[in-house]
Amino acid sequence: MEEFLVILVPAAAAVGWWGGRWYYTQKFLERHTQTIRQGYCKGLNYLLSEKTDQAIETLANLLASDIETIETHVALGNLFRRRGEVQKAIEIHEALLARQSLNGEQKATAQFELGLDYKRAGLYDRAELILANLADHPSYRRPALELLLQIYLQEKDWLKARSCVSQLNRFGRAPNGETEAQLLCELADEALKARQYAVADGRLDEALEQDSRCVRAVLMKADLLARDGYFRPALDLLKTVETIRPDYLPEVIKPLIRCHDQLGLPHNELSAYLDRLAAKCRHPKIVIALAELIEADQGQPEALAYLRDAAVAKPSIRLMAALVRMLAKAESGGDHRTIYLGLGEALDQLAQQQPRYRCSQCGFSGQELHWRCPSCRHWDTTVPLE
Ligand SMILES: [Zn+2]
Repeated sequence: MEEFLVILVPAAAAVGWWGGRWYYTQKFLERHTQTIRQGYCKGLNYLLSEKTDQAIETLANLLASDIETIETHVALGNLFRRRGEVQKAIEIHEALLARQSLNGEQKATAQFELGLDYKRAGLYDRAELILANLADHPSYRRPALELLLQIYLQEKDWLKARSCVSQLNRFGRAPNGETEAQLLCELADEALKARQYAVADGRLDEALEQDSRCVRAVLMKADLLARDGYFRPALDLLKTVETIRPDYLPEVIKPLIRCHDQLGLPHNELSAYLDRLAAKCRHPKIVIALAELIEADQGQPEALAYLRDAAVAKPSIRLMAALVRMLAKAESGGDHRTIYLGLGEALDQLAQQQPRYRCSQCGFSGQELHWRCPSCRHWDTTVPLE
């Protein structure tokens, strides 16, 4: 019996010691977890009320007591980045990524956040390198590609941007409406500037294969064809704009008339075509071009009557300026001619102050046609204004 006591008493003491230790450990964890939870709630409240400074302070305190929590590091780094303190964000996310204990998902999160930090800091090479690691990750593949696309567009690396768009197309449309065709047009533009006309031509063919509705590729290709004397194919190509993008018809008028003139085609054919376009799009460029044809073929009174009716039907400063200029031409001299010329100049100045193009996405307007809006960075959203 004494032998049993010798064994049982220390065993009971050991059980009691372990029990006590377990009890106090549980209590400590409960208290600790509660503190962390309260800290998160506090940080979250600050974030919701956009008090970034207080949120950063709360999360930094949490980091001291909760060093293992990945989410705290990510959130704190993001807040620093949002506040413009990119170096601090980089330090936090780099420290996180250096941990050996991260699982695959956590590592991908840290890499993506670091990619955002590097991009924000303008360290594009580093961002590219780290984001490339996420190419096969199921959750981060698309956002990493979108981020890479932003970087390549910023750097005007059209080839790499095209590759990104091609991969993004598998997930749906690229974020700002980028298409391979537009990027091929950029590559063609680069080739044209370098006088590599054959390369530009090849890029434009590729662009039209990718997207036969790419009006920029149509206009550029027609210009190249006309440059080499192929006016008939250029004219046929320009005429497709009526169907594919009638909102861009005003851009077609000048090259279209040039092709007609070079081919020596009869005026009535061009008049009939412009008349049809004017019925679809009463843009001053089309109306004025038609008025000039009427003047050449039928005489000034008919052209004046046409312009007057068009200006009354849809008032426009540019139309009125054209009307006044024609009136000045009709006067052989004297006071009336001087008045009309002065009025024409004043209307031209007013027209110069009016925007010619507007982005349908953000409303940015100006005198130039931008294939990528300089304000909202969307592609193919800036159209001619009537
Ligand atoms: Zn815009």
